[in-house]
Amino acid sequence: MPTEFELISKYFTRPPRHALLGVGDDAALVAVRPGHELAASTDMLVEGVHFFADVSPLSLGHKALAVNLSDLAAMGAAPRWAMLALSLPAADEEWVKDFAAGFFALAERHDVDLIGGDTTRGPRNICVQVMGEVEQGKALRRDGAKPGDDVWVSGHLGDAAAAVAHRKGELLLREPLLSHCMARLDRPNPRVELGGRLVGFASSAIDISDGLTGDLGHICERSRVGAEISYAQIPCSAGLTPLRHHVHVMRSILAGGDDYELCFTAAPGNQSGIDSLAASLGLALTRIGRITEGNSVTVLDEKGQPMRLQEQGFDHFR
Ligand code: ADP
Ligand code: MG
Repeated sequence: MPTEFELISKYFTRPPRHALLGVGDDAALVAVRPGHELAASTDMLVEGVHFFADVSPLSLGHKALAVNLSDLAAMGAAPRWAMLALSLPAADEEWVKDFAAGFFALAERHDVDLIGGDTTRGPRNICVQVMGEVEQGKALRRDGAKPGDDVWVSGHLGDAAAAVAHRKGELLLREPLLSHCMARLDRPNPRVELGGRLVGFASSAIDISDGLTGDLGHICERSRVGAEISYAQIPCSAGLTPLRHHVHVMRSILAGGDDYELCFTAAPGNQSGIDSLAASLGLALTRIGRITEGNSVTVLDEKGQPMRLQEQGFDHFR
């Protein structure tokens, strides 16, 4: 079995492009470009809580970084650096090799340096920290939404949670929808480019990791506003569309986490700019409602009636 140091030097040491000093010393050294601020975020993935024990290490390496990059995207920050703290039951070289391959494939796509971390024995637990740069004063925060702003989401919602519902036996997905949803759960695509391009357009933003209503609720709370969205306007993938009124699909779309799309608000005058952005990114950006004077999120059904959370089955499940 390889030692901890052999694993680090073989699988986690690559020359950094944006750091003065990367893996190998007691701490890494980085410098933020003039006129920029450092955006930093961390997210932990615990086996049995955030991922199934049988998930492939390649997917897990991807996902551990993806969920963190998603947080930087939601701030409008350009990712630069990552750190990786790994707790593993054994020094399983094959597992580490595949995990690193999944991690670095995504890191390279977004030009992120792995500049350090920690490796220890214990229950399988993966903690990634990411840091990025955002122009001074330009970060997309949760507290900037204003009454009258439009509420937007990127991509499609519900796929990842539908995959989880399928695994729990609550919903039966058939191929090719099942593979599509499983891929969305295992290999989320963080909306890094969108986040960067929303700087200047969006008044607030958040990534959808816990579910649309809950995450939009965080924007409302921090901005001291309410939101009114209509279920019919929330985009879901073509395969899920015929199932839109199945209780577990409804729950997946409204309250399912793990999609890692962005939810953002913008003044109505920005609509055409956002439509052009969608076209240039080849990514759907859909207006699903608006910000109000209230203090909570209301979801309207097709008749314009508020949907009742519990009965409609989208209470924030734990
Ligand atoms: P220390 O004992 O000083 O904390 P370590 O022996 O834990 O240092 O780590 C040695 C070097 O390897 C450090 O630069 C650390 O950041 C890096 N490192 C350890 N584990 C990882 C990992 N999983 N991924 C990337 N770098 C790592
Ligand atoms: Mg040290």
